[in-house]
Amino acid sequence: MTKKLYYEDAYLKEAKAKVLEIKENALLLNQTIFYPTGGGQPHDKGTISGITVLDVYKDEEGNVWHVVEDASKFKVGDEVELKIDWDYRYKLMRIHSAMHLLDHVLNEVLGKGNWRIAGSGLSYEKGRYDVEYPENLNKYKEKMIELFNKYVDEGGEMKIWWEGETRLTQIRDFEILPCGGTHVKDIKEIGHIKKLKRSSIGRGKQRLEIWIE
Ligand SMILES: [Zn+2]
Repeated sequence: MTKKLYYEDAYLKEAKAKVLEIKENALLLNQTIFYPTGGGQPHDKGTISGITVLDVYKDEEGNVWHVVEDASKFKVGDEVELKIDWDYRYKLMRIHSAMHLLDHVLNEVLGKGNWRIAGSGLSYEKGRYDVEYPENLNKYKEKMIELFNKYVDEGGEMKIWWEGETRLTQIRDFEILPCGGTHVKDIKEIGHIKKLKRSSIGRGKQRLEIWIE
């Protein structure tokens, strides 16, 4: 299985690897810093020995495949240099971590068990939760932003550990959440919420979208 260096150190921007297999335009490497699409987080962008990476995905065995612009530049056994688009990844890491913090903030503001996540997603621009809650969440918007930003100012470690096959994360002494994404070390890095938008998406669901500074 591909060694997932992004799990050992989410801050790695460059690494070396070896090509194990080439299937059409996709490379299998012995190890990688490229995060594959999964858990609502988009795949990393970057280059492998200067060749643009177009897609990164994980197969059923847990191997990570890198779809490259020109696979003819590689052969099995090659030593290659991996480089990820750090600005892009770091923003995703910050937004992804922001969603963990928002989850806790919602628990505090609305009360644990009173609300439910019906869907989620994130991009380079923003993070999204689709929430089931009986009242209009606009009422709590200011409170959510205030609490979120207070926690960011105070800071706090984002711990990550494994229990068997399950990867767990925890901000400070908040809820323990299973997650396979990439996170910041300290929630200070997330930055303040710049904008929080609530909209109705029907069937009793409300969409919360956040933009961070
Ligand atoms: Zn996560």
